[in-house]
Amino acid sequence: MAAWARTIVDWIRRRGGLCLSTAAVCCAAITDPASAAQPRLADPPVGLAWSAEEIDHATRDTATVLIDDARRRDQLGCQRHCEMLTRVFDRLMTQVREEAPQAAGLNWQLTVLRSASVEAMALPGGHVIVSEHFIDEAVPNEDALAFVLAHEMAHSILEHERQALTFARMLLPRQVPRTVADIYVEIDHNLGLLKAMEPVMQQGEREADELGLLLAAAAGHEPQRQLAFLERAAAQGEPRRGLVQTHPTLVDRLGWLRERLPLAQRLHQGRPAD
Ligand SMILES: [Zn+2]
Repeated sequence: MAAWARTIVDWIRRRGGLCLSTAAVCCAAITDPASAAQPRLADPPVGLAWSAEEIDHATRDTATVLIDDARRRDQLGCQRHCEMLTRVFDRLMTQVREEAPQAAGLNWQLTVLRSASVEAMALPGGHVIVSEHFIDEAVPNEDALAFVLAHEMAHSILEHERQALTFARMLLPRQVPRTVADIYVEIDHNLGLLKAMEPVMQQGEREADELGLLLAAAAGHEPQRQLAFLERAAAQGEPRRGLVQTHPTLVDRLGWLRERLPLAQRLHQGRPAD
């Protein structure tokens, strides 16, 4: 394994990608001088509230609800892109084991639905859910699919849900002990809290875009073609902005990713597709 390929996640961490400047929530790899001098990919983040297992436990029902609903509607399982989905996910999984060994122990699995109400998502425990309907409608090629899946996997690798929940916890009165479920109730009923979380959520999307692009490139997917998903979406115009803006604009995301194409190209050239 080439040294540069081994250090994608480490590179993002060292440059501060995981440090949420608005939240002051950082990893040991950034804040601990010893680990900064000798960064290790397997170092778990510290300074976050709750355990990764608590976050996983609190979010598992999300997948259960979606899958049960799809089963009732006869929309569970792939029909048209099974081979491509398995090939891309397996290739990304191999890359995750090499690039982010701390995430290799997650319960990685891919569930395919055929629902118009689901696009793509990943749960903190490593469960990736994607809709074939979404692939048909919005994902023009295999490299773009790799970017979509790798973006979602990056959210799990970088523990974005835990980071966002920790930030929310910091915005609330600290005298009151709160479980993960308590924070979700707060988020559901407190628009001001959600608005205050926008910068953290948008930073998480940038990081997932970046790590997703690099992971998929190292896994053999051509970087420029990966962008086809976002380019197609941007060509249709920015979606109507909601009350809470969880994502940067498509133009911003594409600009951010294009700046990272040279590195992604180097990764891709060193690790060509089979
Ligand atoms: Zn995302």
